[in-house]
Amino acid sequence: MDPIRLIVSRCLLGDAVRYDNKSKPANYVCENLAKAFELVPVCPEFESGLGLPREAMKLCGNAETPELRGVVSNKDCTGYIRSWLEKRLPELAALEPAGFVLKSSSPSCGLYPVQFQNSDQPGTGLFAACVATAFPELAIASEKQLEERFGRQKFLDKLLLMTRFRELTSSAEGVEMLPDFHCNLKLCAMSHAPGRMAELEKFARRGDWGTYERKLAVVLDAEPEQSKHNNVWRHLQSVLMARSDDYERTALLRSMREFEQGELDFKAMLMLLRIGVEKYAPEYQSQFYWRMLDPLY
Ligand code: SF4
Repeated sequence: MDPIRLIVSRCLLGDAVRYDNKSKPANYVCENLAKAFELVPVCPEFESGLGLPREAMKLCGNAETPELRGVVSNKDCTGYIRSWLEKRLPELAALEPAGFVLKSSSPSCGLYPVQFQNSDQPGTGLFAACVATAFPELAIASEKQLEERFGRQKFLDKLLLMTRFRELTSSAEGVEMLPDFHCNLKLCAMSHAPGRMAELEKFARRGDWGTYERKLAVVLDAEPEQSKHNNVWRHLQSVLMARSDDYERTALLRSMREFEQGELDFKAMLMLLRIGVEKYAPEYQSQFYWRMLDPLY
């Protein structure tokens, strides 16, 4: 199997390519993502010939016509990035990446919201905007979003599930496994976009996997939240309560209460539910949802 490839803002990997000849290493990226995936570094400002060290850049103009300008000189450097993008974007696409991790707040790499100079309206860095337009089906996050549990879940779920989906659709044997893929999505989809499973179900029944893929990306783009996980947990709780004994029912209810009171960690609660599922609800064992127990999450 090919390695899963991520394109990453180079300064996040500890390379001194920032305007001040320094880096901004991101722990989670360097420690966790680097062990699990192939990371391809990219630095739009350095690679486009703006030099090192160079003047710090700011985002000017507006959302329709953003400009990259020097903070002190106000020199318009947009052309450097645009010419670089014309050549580099097709090269990056040819690498068949599964996702991007981009430096937050940068006028080049920053995902929305980046502050425009002389405007209250936030925008998106020049490179990040092109990436988001060119690769809407891929997982894209900033290092800041990855510091947070549900930000990591959103990124990793989309990265791993879209990659798995594409693997399955690329072979005849894989296509036969797509109905199972759909069934195993249920709890994970509930934690992103409750209520959207019925829509996916419609396209799965028709075998319209092209539309299914687009709808799946939309479902996985929805923000996971604790309240949505609570719905998943209540659903599992009702199944487990009906099948377990008095002692286990009491223990489960007490654990849920302790979680709500902040005395039990998210993953500890998830693990308890997983143990209950192994014993009493094996039909839920193969849900993708349990990937959240992986240390990467
Ligand atoms: S934020 Fe982007 S452009 Fe700036 S140093 Fe990092 S990789 Fe280069």
